[in-house]
Amino acid sequence: ITRSMFKFLKEKLKNWAGKISKHQEKEIREEEIKESRKKIIKETAKDEKKESFFERIKGKISRVKISEKEFEVYSEELEMLLIENNVALEVSQKIINELREKVIGKEFLRKEIESEIKDNLKEIIENILVEPFSIVEKIREKMSDQAKEPYVILFCGINGTGKTTTIAKIADHLKRNGITCVLAASDTFRAASIEQIKKHGEKLGIRVISQDYGADPAAVAFDAIKYAKRNFINCVLIDTAGRMHTAKNLIREIEKISKVCKPDLKIFVGESITGNDIIEQAKSFDWALNIDGIVLTKADIDEKGGTALSVGYILKKPILYLGTGQEYNKIEVFDKQKFIEKLGL
Ligand code: GDP
Repeated sequence: ITRSMFKFLKEKLKNWAGKISKHQEKEIREEEIKESRKKIIKETAKDEKKESFFERIKGKISRVKISEKEFEVYSEELEMLLIENNVALEVSQKIINELREKVIGKEFLRKEIESEIKDNLKEIIENILVEPFSIVEKIREKMSDQAKEPYVILFCGINGTGKTTTIAKIADHLKRNGITCVLAASDTFRAASIEQIKKHGEKLGIRVISQDYGADPAAVAFDAIKYAKRNFINCVLIDTAGRMHTAKNLIREIEKISKVCKPDLKIFVGESITGNDIIEQAKSFDWALNIDGIVLTKADIDEKGGTALSVGYILKKPILYLGTGQEYNKIEVFDKQKFIEKLGL
């Protein structure tokens, strides 16, 4: 009996030990999870505390005494800051060189150093950004022509940047300004793109001209222009396939659309959050089409703000609109002064 009881007890103990260690394991695991959660929360809070681009510049400015040697140290920091915030290397160097010319060798009162540098930076950025024009005014000018030809806008850009949504937003914006529109579904390449633009058209009460997948995009655009002429529509907005800028055949195709339709305006749509990638995209489209203006989408989720400077400077073309959300009314006419104010200058 003793032996079997002992065995029984031993087994019980083993069982308990197992349970206890499992329980401890569970507790330890829960503790670990709690700890890692705390860590994540702490890190997120730290991230949120990160100062914005120009707040950090401001901080640095107040500590800077301007001598040639110190400017070098400061300019290295400024360059890093600009690059971290999506300003292309080429553009950061231009900003720094101009700033160097403006501030070195000049005498500033110590208390004015910060405001002097800020003013100089502001001036440099103002000069980098080309003054935007109003699409509404351009269309109205053409509307007052005797010929009554529609104003044609061709949109280009890679997939997923928000090109189709931007077209719908601009069409809605024009409609609100008393300008009638028709949309050309010239992205006959990507599955679902025709349905996508038709859906926007239905929601906005705007006619979409389309053909089947694989149809010649230039022919679709040409049809839309014909439709606009016949029906006295003021403006034709042409959606195109979101080609990669490296896909030469697709770039050639958009050149053809441009040659056939002779658009009044060629707009490049790019994501403000893309960083440096947008530069190569914009350069290729500009090289193929000689674009007239830029729309930067997703500005609502871009905390950095440097893309506008980069793309504006590299193309020397104006930014016309900023996309600021997914809804149709989330589009803002680009305002240089407002942009600079937002940078904290
Ligand atoms: P496309 O492939 O370039 O035609 O891109 P789409 O128009 O289909 O847009 C891709 C995604 O980006 C969609 O989910 C849009 O709602 C979203 N989008 C477009 N513009 C903006 C914007 O300004 N802000 C935000 N947050 N999302 C946007």
